[in-house]
Amino acid sequence: QPLNIAQLTQSVVTHYQPLVTQPLSFIGPGDPVMALGDTDMLHQILTALLDNAHKYSPADQPITVTVAQSAGQITVTVADQGTGIPVADRAHIFERFYRVDASRSSKIEGSGLGLAIVSQLVQLNQGTITVSDNDPRGTKFTVILQATDELA
Ligand code: ATP
Repeated sequence: QPLNIAQLTQSVVTHYQPLVTQPLSFIGPGDPVMALGDTDMLHQILTALLDNAHKYSPADQPITVTVAQSAGQITVTVADQGTGIPVADRAHIFERFYRVDASRSSKIEGSGLGLAIVSQLVQLNQGTITVSDNDPRGTKFTVILQATDELA
């Protein structure tokens, strides 16, 4: 189903901001960016990535969300300036119940299910998700979705 991912993402960021201390910013076109996907699932994906960015980064460090389109692909990123994820753990964080050691031993609670669900939802929407370093520190999740010419 075609959906305006720029508008959806901006709206999620706006509604999430009052719930967290970190300054959130949205960078993306004001014009519609039409992606193929299910609105509820994309909403859940964005919220789960924001929850993690919030949980695993200091209270005063910015979280940046972007939407961009090039040709048939749409890129959505959620980046924080938190603890980062060691390279050795990155292959496993999308598995059910996997938590990086530092998270297990910290006071941050979690089941390790969030990213497994996100990964399933991204696949159901014919997308991909990857994790990388954020600049200058922290973690960046990148979700690639398929663009469509159809309007919602
Ligand atoms: P929950 O299921 O409640 O979200 P969780 O946060 O432990 O629990 P996931 O969302 O699946 O589970 O994340 C898996 C692990 O990946 C986390 O325990 C944490 O170690 C690491 N992680 C996820 N997102 C980030 C992030 N933005 N920065 C640093 N580490 C992260």
